[in-house]
Amino acid sequence: MKLRLAIVGAGPAGVYAADILLKHERSFDVSIDLFEQLPAPYGLVRYGVAPDHPRIKGIITALREVLDRGDIRIFGNVLYGRDITLDDLKHHYHAVIFATGAVRDASLDIPGIDLPGSYGAAEFVSWYDGHPDFPRTWPLEAESVAVVGNGNVALDVARILAKHPEDLLPTEIPANVYEGLQASPVTDVHVFGRRGPMQVKFTPLELRELGELRDVDMIVYDEDFDYDEASRRAIESNKQVLVIDRVLGQWRQREVGAASRRLHLHFYAKPLEVLGDENGVTAFRYERTEPDGEGGVRGTGEIREVPVQAVYRAIGYFGSPLPGIPFDKKHGVIPNHEGQALDKDNNIVPGVYATGWIKRGPVGLIGHTKSDAMETISHLVKDQASWWSPAEPDEDAVVRLLDERGVEYTDLEGWHRLDAHEIALGEPEGRARIKVVPRDDMVRVSRP
Ligand SMILES: Cc1cc2nc3c(=O)[nH]c(=O)nc-3n(C[C@H](O)[C@H](O)[C@H](O)COP(=O)(O)OP(=O)(O)OC[C@H]3O[C@@H](n4cnc5c(N)ncnc54)[C@H](O)[C@@H]3O)c2cc1C
Repeated sequence: MKLRLAIVGAGPAGVYAADILLKHERSFDVSIDLFEQLPAPYGLVRYGVAPDHPRIKGIITALREVLDRGDIRIFGNVLYGRDITLDDLKHHYHAVIFATGAVRDASLDIPGIDLPGSYGAAEFVSWYDGHPDFPRTWPLEAESVAVVGNGNVALDVARILAKHPEDLLPTEIPANVYEGLQASPVTDVHVFGRRGPMQVKFTPLELRELGELRDVDMIVYDEDFDYDEASRRAIESNKQVLVIDRVLGQWRQREVGAASRRLHLHFYAKPLEVLGDENGVTAFRYERTEPDGEGGVRGTGEIREVPVQAVYRAIGYFGSPLPGIPFDKKHGVIPNHEGQALDKDNNIVPGVYATGWIKRGPVGLIGHTKSDAMETISHLVKDQASWWSPAEPDEDAVVRLLDERGVEYTDLEGWHRLDAHEIALGEPEGRARIKVVPRDDMVRVSRP
């Protein structure tokens, strides 16, 4: 018996799922096809992780080793729902794992959020990381910017906006992104978090990095550091919180005023409204909050405004529904029991599995997708009795189908070609790589 498995999404969750299944103890052979809507694999590691985080980008090397082993086929530039459907998968495979992640911004329901000059972090990240499906130009006209959110993505966005672009040049940022950032007149980036400094979601490493930015002053405000009992307890009981407290404490002592750019951290600030008109954003309005004694916050009724000309909301990502597959609209995930998809009556949907952010929601680091995949794969292996019965399971049949439909799919060889091409583009300028951005160019370089 040979399990023909389709995995949709070649981000870390999809690649780890394939790897774990191949290493898993089992009584049957396995043949895996990975379908990815982009011409290149690796999901948010390539198109989310910030370009100035080369160590994390380096996880691509580990993912690449999995793909290079030769027992997984990749079909890039293939969109599930358009180029290949659930019926097609049932015709050619015994089961499918969806590992489609989350690419959209979660919504923030405050007046003015749709004004010109108010953006989602996901769009901006996609621009600076060279995602082919997003506009290639980005309006960087604001001198003062608000970033709403207190997670790592908020800090990524604030850092990329505040950092002098020359310091990004050694990274893999696309040429158009460097040019865009160079023209930015920004002087002040304000990050707003609803809760206190000891209740943030970002990690100490990301925070500390901000203090190392050249010619950027870190501004924190004394009024935010009047800790309540819950904050003090958090510092005592959690090492990460302790480190965050120390880092912020050092910044409070620092001399500021000499740098040409400033990055402000405002805590206890609940977003109320983005002010402006059809010509753009003029200010960000928020309510000052205070600790409620239980680790949360409550409003104080004190309303404040900071003049800004752009607002970025970095309050989380959100998954997208997939044709024919159950979807939980509230949480943006495929409803599931440990990775087995569930229908609206909470019954297991045979043959359909989920892993990664589309299974669990958009929280957690790349490493977490590994444990996720283990759980999903252990069910897949045990569920043999309920797999689909494909009419055409042979490996060539799906290739014929894509060819008949005229789908310009890319494969592993194609990705190696694109990879080598990007590295060669970077070489004369002493850069690690220069990313190719337009989809057509990616496909042209990938396909012989
Ligand atoms: C801005 C940002 C920065 C981050 N920085 C870090 C960091 O520094 N360190 C860290 O550990 N983690 C970081 N993360 C988290 C990390 O990116 C995620 O944990 C991880 O990528 C989730 O993996 P995934 O495979 O579930 O989803 P994804 O990485 O999103 O992969 C999903 C893949 O599915 C594909 N896909 C979607 N729909 C379809 C479809 N219909 N048909 C075919 N293919 C489809 C997508 O194109 C994508 O390639 C960051 C996340 C973001 C958003």
